[in-house]
This record gives sequence, structure tokens and C-alpha cells, in this order.
Amino acid sequence: MIYSGEVINVEQVKRSFGTVDVLRGVDLTVQSGEMIALYGPSGSGKTTLLNLIGMLDRPTGGDILLQGLNILKMREGKRTKLRRKRIGFIFQNYTLMPTYTAAENIDLALRLPGMGFFERRRRSKTALEAVGLSAWADHLPDQLSGGQRQRVAIARALALHPPLILADEPTSGLDTRTAKRVMSLFHGIAKQQGTAFIIVSHDPVVTEFVDSAYDLIDGQVHLRKDKQG
Ligand code: ADP
Ligand code: MG
Repeated sequence: MIYSGEVINVEQVKRSFGTVDVLRGVDLTVQSGEMIALYGPSGSGKTTLLNLIGMLDRPTGGDILLQGLNILKMREGKRTKLRRKRIGFIFQNYTLMPTYTAAENIDLALRLPGMGFFERRRRSKTALEAVGLSAWADHLPDQLSGGQRQRVAIARALALHPPLILADEPTSGLDTRTAKRVMSLFHGIAKQQGTAFIIVSHDPVVTEFVDSAYDLIDGQVHLRKDKQG
């Protein structure tokens, strides 16, 4: 499957928690094959925005389209189905199942949307190879280092071949060489499969690879003219 067209349209999205207006009218469009970096100070609402796009939360106002479908007009059951099929998460708190091996963790993420056994096995093997963890496939998360666990989470997102991958600090805990390898892998996948990436990160390695960068300031998202900024 090679994706094309607009993957995400965020239109005037607002999110408040009590009296705190975290997002105050966010507009953002991401095309297939596009990799964007999202910057912003701690507490500016980056994770809040990823949670809304990832259908883990609902905004107070505005619209969000995923491949042209309005995900806010859907019931939770439909959203869950769509999320499992179409969104890869690389989140710090989207943890691995502790009693499942690296390979089983990836397998589970592919089983949820109903993928068949042989396809799952093939994809999980390929994804673990891509992140350099073939030899660790049968290890449990607590037998892996923090960086290796992070790479399992990356492999799990990639194995799904979703149109959209949301990543919150995906290179944290990785050394520079591994971070470059991971970003170069993302770049290849974006360009070959049309996967869109939204990456929250302050890592200069990430900046090097993205197509464009946005700042989340005072509840709104602005395109950076110079992504190095
Ligand atoms: P960032 O990821 O940019 O550091 P967050 O999106 O995590 O920022 O948080 C933005 C603001 O929203 C913070 O002030 C945070 O306390 C608040 N916030 C986030 N989630 C919730 C929640 N579930 N309930 C109340 N406040 C929240
Ligand atoms: Mg955050």
C-alpha cells in the first residue's frame, strides 16, 4: 500500500482543561510522505495535540480529518478500529506489554486490526531487522535496555505500515548513531510508502531529516521558515 494525498487536516482545533486553554485554534495539514517536526516548550500542548490526532482524546472545538474522514463525528468503537489500523504510535507511555517478547509485542499490534498470521510474522521479522533487533526478538522488555525498548516500539509502529505515525521524542534514549539510523529509516519509509510522520522532538538529528518544522506557541501552530531555526 502506497499512500497519497492529505493524511491529516487539523482545523481550528481547541482543547481546554478546565479553565486552561491549551490549544486555541490549531491548523495543521500533513501530506502523505511528509515528515514534520513539532517544537514547543514543555507544557505548550504538543502531547495534547498528538493525543487528539491519535484519537486518544477529543477536542473542545474544531475538526480533525484523517485521510478525509472526520474522526470527531465517529463513535469510540469506530475510532478505536481506525486507530489500530491507521496510526502508529511511538510514545513514551505507550509501553510494551511486559509479559510479551519483542516479537510478540509487534505481533499484538498487528493482530488487533485483524492481520493474518503469515503476514504478521513476515512484517514483525522485517521490522525487527530494520531496527537492528533480530537477535532480541524473543526477549522480554525487561531484558532489553531503554534504547532497545524504544526501538521495539519503533518497529511496532513501522510494522503496521500505517498512513500516519505519531512520535513523541522517538530518539530519546538512543545514541546519535542509532538516532540517525532510525531517522533515516523513517525518511525512507515516508518517501517509499507515503507514510506521514509527525514528530515531537528537540533533537537536532530529527531536524536534519524532516521536511518542515512547526512551532506550537500560545496554543497555535506556526510553520517555521527555517527548520533549523
Ligand atoms: P507538552 O507535551 O508540550 O509538554 P502537554 O500537552 O503535555 O504539553 O500539556 C499541555 C498543558 O495541558 C499542560 O499545562 C498540562 O498540565 C495540561 N494537560 C494536559 N493533559 C491534561 C489533562 N488530562 N488534564 C488536565 N490538564 C492537562
Ligand atoms: Mg509532551
